Amino acid sequence: MKRLILILFLMPLMAFAKGDDFPRLVIITIDGLRWQEVFSGAEESLLSNTKEVRNVEQTRRLYWRHTPVDRRMALMPFVWNTVAKQGMLIGNRNLGSVMQVANKTNISFPGYSEMMTGIVDEDIKGNDPIPNPHLNVLEVANQDLRYKGSVVMYGSWKSTRYAIHNEEAHIPASVSYEKNIAKTQTPVLKMVDRMMEGMPHYWGSEHFDAFTYAYAIETLKADHPKVMWISFGDCDEWAHARKYDFYLDAANATDAFISDIYNACESDKFYKGKTTYLITCDHGRGDGDQWASHGSSTKGSEATWLMLLGKGIEPKGETLNNGPFFTKQVAATIARILDLDFTPEGGAQLLPIAP
Ligand SMILES: [Zn+2]
Repeated sequence: MKRLILILFLMPLMAFAKGDDFPRLVIITIDGLRWQEVFSGAEESLLSNTKEVRNVEQTRRLYWRHTPVDRRMALMPFVWNTVAKQGMLIGNRNLGSVMQVANKTNISFPGYSEMMTGIVDEDIKGNDPIPNPHLNVLEVANQDLRYKGSVVMYGSWKSTRYAIHNEEAHIPASVSYEKNIAKTQTPVLKMVDRMMEGMPHYWGSEHFDAFTYAYAIETLKADHPKVMWISFGDCDEWAHARKYDFYLDAANATDAFISDIYNACESDKFYKGKTTYLITCDHGRGDGDQWASHGSSTKGSEATWLMLLGKGIEPKGETLNNGPFFTKQVAATIARILDLDFTPEGGAQLLPIAP
């Protein structure tokens, strides 16, 4: 009898075990990648600037094509072959599709903060690694029995983790030269840790995205977390350095990383057909020669974009929907995908962008 009672007691809990059908979500952010390159590919005047491109001829061979449609395909083939055909994209201003940050700073930490908390706090205006005092949607996921202990973050830049960290959140995260945090320590993860130790700290508080990619994809395979935020940063760093060819290479490499992550998940029965992929950015950058900068005084750097793919997402391609959309709506979108009861601080419910 006791055993029966125990089984009856455990049954609801067993439903939460690994074989369940609750949604899985992979969030990928690409720091400071402009909508201009996402939707139109390389920009000719920037591509031809010998001060900002080491080898113009070679870079043109890689990324220059005669039409924007061909250029964007050359730059981000996974986005345009897969996301555009099976998912949806918002933010092509040339088609009147507008998305932007709601904060006035147009810099990273306030962008990630509004993305995860669904609110704009005017006092959050810097990039320092300070815990975010506000409730965030991943914290709510991590407190939900369906996702508890199954929310993980890997980021390149140190401050990203603090967008989702406060006293209560306890979301495992690894950023900026920290080792992997997988529960299952595979030989690959140990090797990547070792390689990270040997890397020069080129950007100080940000490691190269190749490490973020390796940690993320290997942790997805080994641990099967239900929710992962992968935060890439190379594009923003190379842009600040005014190296347009490196910036394009980073966009192209990130596209390939996303392709690998998507294919790894969709060939794993834990994720296959159960996973939604949300890809977005934290801010835009200036137009033309202002491309390297972003911030409150850089016109156009409020512009953001968003892509959705996978479970529950209709194949709408480039969609106008009913914008303008705001980056703070990403929190509501995450809540919708994960079926969470999430109300941002202050009580203002925002509309999810999709589904
Ligand atoms: Zn930046």
